[in-house]
Amino acid sequence: MRLSYVLRHFALAYENVPQGLIGYSDSLQPIVVADAAGSFFQEKEPYPGTPNYRDWVGQRVPFFFDAQPAAPLLTMQRGRVSINADLISAAFYLLSGWQEYFSDERDRHGRFPYAASVQKQYGFVTLPVVNYYFDVLKRAIEHVTGQALKPRRWNGAAFAAFISHDIDELRSAWKAPAKAALLQRSTRRFGALLWQHFTQPDAWDNLESVAAATARYGGCSTFFILPQSRPGADGTPNADYQLSAGLRQRLKALAQKSCEINLHGSIGTATDPLQLDHEARKLQAGCGGLRFHYLRWEPRLTPAKIEAVGGFAYDSTLGFAEHFGFRHSYCQPFYPFNFASGTAYAFVEIPLQVMDATLHHPSYLQLQGPEILPALQPMLAEIERFGGVASILWHNDHFDPANTTTGPQQFAEIMEYLRERGAAFLTGNRIVAEL
Ligand SMILES: [Zn+2]
Repeated sequence: MRLSYVLRHFALAYENVPQGLIGYSDSLQPIVVADAAGSFFQEKEPYPGTPNYRDWVGQRVPFFFDAQPAAPLLTMQRGRVSINADLISAAFYLLSGWQEYFSDERDRHGRFPYAASVQKQYGFVTLPVVNYYFDVLKRAIEHVTGQALKPRRWNGAAFAAFISHDIDELRSAWKAPAKAALLQRSTRRFGALLWQHFTQPDAWDNLESVAAATARYGGCSTFFILPQSRPGADGTPNADYQLSAGLRQRLKALAQKSCEINLHGSIGTATDPLQLDHEARKLQAGCGGLRFHYLRWEPRLTPAKIEAVGGFAYDSTLGFAEHFGFRHSYCQPFYPFNFASGTAYAFVEIPLQVMDATLHHPSYLQLQGPEILPALQPMLAEIERFGGVASILWHNDHFDPANTTTGPQQFAEIMEYLRERGAAFLTGNRIVAEL
């Protein structure tokens, strides 16, 4: 079960992967992986033992289920390879999201917290560790076959970029300055802002210019639209706008320009399939992509609900709100693991690595504008190295020129970098179509 789930993803990560070469010690395959998980996967503990660190292609990589730390990672003979750490179990553990399924830790939004993750504990959130494990398997296969294994490509490019925008607010740009004017007892300024609010479009009502900011680099934006304006049952706000006929018309025009319009599931939809289905129907224009508002995701329920409602080709919720990086330690799209059936779900997860709000927020990181691209570059280089998908969420309100920390300038710097490095800018469905 572990082996087939992991090898299925390995086969998606490289071109023309030969089958049937890798197995556990009792097998006849030429590449034998040490079986070191013991009874871990029969029990329901969220965390395995401390990883052993090994150097691999100049990188210090944590290896879980590594029972022979003194042994070399690979023992190569003619036509045969022994892998002396249980890479299959380690890859399965991370890729399946085992920790969050079996951990009871949740934050106030019902999310598995970064603070409870092995990525935080061992400091590897920006390292796609599963891709490093795959690199070891690749080396073993190349030894056995004598043929180089090439990373998969995206529309001909070495890596892809998935640029998305969650649309939570279209009408609230005036609120913060108006509040500030009130606090300063500046009635004139407050009046002017109020007048502006009622007579002119809001600075955040900017979907077309957001799409243009992505198109400037040859990309198409993927939008996630929130069709619920009532707050969630717990009081968490949803949209500040209605899905009016006028807005529908604009979304249609954006779709005609090759943007993708998808559902941003409101508070509650991550655990309530009826509500999720209702919102998907309400949006109509849905292209089969999904991301939950506030990145809400209950690992024990949400994937099954997505599958039950049906019609979703992919989800793109799975990143940590608190830190940029790889929640499943993997930089490619993957099929979430179904713990009830022991197989993979049919929908694709395009994991989220960077959210604007993560980078500068009282509860998250406090990076300054000029620090943002340099902070992300090593992680983006890892994605490029392994032919992955750089998934970047920039909310429409962050395109407000008044935002100089995680605003249009920082977005442009990231886009410029990705373009220079030769990323293929693809919408979610284009990515799914290439799998
Ligand atoms: Zn949202």
